[in-house]
Amino acid sequence: MLQTFSQFIDGQFEPGSTHFESVDPATGTAWARMPAATANDVDRAVRAAHRALNDPAWRELTATARGKLLARLAELVTRDAPLLAELETRDTGKVIRETRAQIGYVAEYYRYYAGLADKLEGRHLPVDKADMEAYTRREPLGVIAAIVPWNSQLFLSAVKLGPALAAGCTVVLKASEEGPAPLLAFAKLVQEAGFPPGVLNIVTGFGDACGKVLTSHPLVDKVAFTGGPETARHIVRNTAENLADTSLELGGKSPVLVFDDVDLDSVCNSLVAGIFGASGQSCVAGSRLLVQRGIADRLLAALAEKAARIRIGDPKDLATEMGPLATRKQIAHIERTVQASLDAGARLVCGGGVPSGFAADSHFYAPTILDCPNADIPSVQTELFGPVLSVVRFDTEADAIRLANDSPYGLASGVFTRDLARGHRLIRALRAGIVWVNTYRVVSPIVPFGGFGLSGLGREGGMEAALAYTRTKSVWINTSDAPIPDPFVMR
Ligand code: NAD
Repeated sequence: MLQTFSQFIDGQFEPGSTHFESVDPATGTAWARMPAATANDVDRAVRAAHRALNDPAWRELTATARGKLLARLAELVTRDAPLLAELETRDTGKVIRETRAQIGYVAEYYRYYAGLADKLEGRHLPVDKADMEAYTRREPLGVIAAIVPWNSQLFLSAVKLGPALAAGCTVVLKASEEGPAPLLAFAKLVQEAGFPPGVLNIVTGFGDACGKVLTSHPLVDKVAFTGGPETARHIVRNTAENLADTSLELGGKSPVLVFDDVDLDSVCNSLVAGIFGASGQSCVAGSRLLVQRGIADRLLAALAEKAARIRIGDPKDLATEMGPLATRKQIAHIERTVQASLDAGARLVCGGGVPSGFAADSHFYAPTILDCPNADIPSVQTELFGPVLSVVRFDTEADAIRLANDSPYGLASGVFTRDLARGHRLIRALRAGIVWVNTYRVVSPIVPFGGFGLSGLGREGGMEAALAYTRTKSVWINTSDAPIPDPFVMR
């Protein structure tokens, strides 16, 4: 018997008129029935969000009261984190030890934006006209279309919903067609927290059926998107219709630079977490390892040894360290690219297929390391979104910078060195939205997150994100008691 989920439109749970089945990647079998939003559902959700934006029940709430609603939502996420984690693990295959930790932390994003809601201040301007006062107000940007990919949907939603709701916007959130269960369950918490109907609507469905209507809708003011660059291009074309603002958090091929002065064992732990955590299905995966030639063989041997010890298996088991990949389509992409890389001269250090003991058609792929003779090898250039580390050697700092920046992406980067001066030089030289020095994959609601180049536009997290959900209104006030002079009499 399949578990059934509903979408959430205008404060009501709706079973939907069309459906699709969601697959448990650990078993490869369907476990749940999800509503597939139609264009009409999306249109109704946008209209509900537009009504709510102008309804006094939301529009006239003080910023402090909005913050309290967000704080309540944070409490409910904390309360239900174990259930939400279980659903995310079931629906996407992400291991339970990661979903529990991540969803526990998702609540911190809502808490942070709860606190920011009444701190989005305008400014008084010392204007150059004696009789005038001028100031700016930060007003809500409007109706937000938020679109998330399948990995970490609760986390990737929180970085949009927290700042958008703090700023007083209303939202239509489109969950991914892969693994939407945790977001549909989260909708119940939105209702329980007491947000007025229509402030936050959650639909789930396919890009073709609902993507265009959502992103080109005349009542949408901003599209906040996380996903792949191809989809982003569709969105940018669609927003040519409504001229909506956009923020785009896209993919990455993040380089990690390791210099020969480091403690190898400690660096290995960071590298393994960076590429094999979440089975490599992370936009910031440290998938390009650039290592100084003198330590490359030793580092590769140590990494292969750690990779061999990763516990692969049932994502619901707390002992499991690496679970399945979310879809077979992704595995096919990885298999093709790994084969093309071997054909082009890469050497397989470990992995390169289904791990032993798993069926050939399962969703599992072994932690894989490719020793690449140059940066033209396909796996060095292509985002794989899986557990594949491509390693390229360098001799000098200048080589390392050139290799690191040789990518159309620019999301994250890592630098491992004990040389402080070199660390600072690299921070300046790397073309990436995030530079982690002697650490990797650390995030916080307080720190902005986003990329350069094909990795996207705009930033999520921090005050910067909250301001990006506001628009500035400039106010002029004439303080003079003198009558306004006749404009056609020259003085
Ligand atoms: P995707 O681009 O295929 O899908 C993302 C979302 O867009 C889904 O909800 C999908 O239904 C929707 N969509 C598809 N076509 C659409 C259209 N025409 N209009 C509007 N929406 C449409 O991405 P995916 O395969 O689900 O996720 C993987 C990608 O996401 C990777 O490239 C990864 O790097 C990226 N990602 C980026 C970040 C980040 O923060 N930078 C985080 C996680 C994932």
